[in-house]
Amino acid sequence: MCLVADDRVIDVERASAGRFPADPLAAFERWDEFADWARAIHDGPAGPAGPAGSPSPAPRQVFAIGLNYREHAEESGLGLPESPATFTKFLGSLTGPETRLRLPSEFVDWEAELVVVIGRRAERAAAEDAWRHVAGLTVGQDFSERVVQSAGPVPQFSLGKSFPGFAPTGPVLVTADEFADPDDLAIECLVNGESVQKSRTSSMVFGVAELIARLSAVCPLLPGDLIFTGTPPGVGHARTPRRYLRPGDEVITRVEGIGQLRQSCVAA
Ligand code: ZN
Repeated sequence: MCLVADDRVIDVERASAGRFPADPLAAFERWDEFADWARAIHDGPAGPAGPAGSPSPAPRQVFAIGLNYREHAEESGLGLPESPATFTKFLGSLTGPETRLRLPSEFVDWEAELVVVIGRRAERAAAEDAWRHVAGLTVGQDFSERVVQSAGPVPQFSLGKSFPGFAPTGPVLVTADEFADPDDLAIECLVNGESVQKSRTSSMVFGVAELIARLSAVCPLLPGDLIFTGTPPGVGHARTPRRYLRPGDEVITRVEGIGQLRQSCVAA
């Protein structure tokens, strides 16, 4: 695990002399202590070179929200939800920010999303108090296989969105205090350089605080847990004609103030 301080990438385990181990989950479990330590660090042993990994690579729970932008709910032909439409992305789908995406079929679609990482356990949290439970924000892609997703008597969102590599996150975790307004960030998806989704997170039906309140009313949220907060309009499945990812396509997913993911599509 590494800390980005100014323009330096610092190895947390070595800089803290072993106080915080390399496993990010250990830092999420002691988030207040870790955040206090990290705020005071401006220099230290450099982290390993190479691509960054997921900020929380082994969470205990992953929540994902469907239809959380008004225009996406409309383009999907489904009504605006009265409560967050919740599913999971199973853990085998999690991966890092720069990957090759094996396409399991000809029906794989893109969904750019802001992802919340939990830092303090939240149980029946109030919305006014909810940001206190957030370790930070990162970028995510909710890749979706649309045939599997809608097969059967009830939709199989969790299954259709959980093929290997379908949940890249990264490249870094950014704490909420780093943003002028963490509830209003530009979000964009590009396929082969063409902007296919472009919106702001302020357009969410249920914002970050409201999602934490609603989810934690049922499931205690644990340090390191992820919440994929939903995608803006512009998915391929809602286009005429429908458009899906093909081998050779490159998908870039960006959120303002955090960075971007890059996935190169290859045949399975
Ligand atoms: Zn989604």
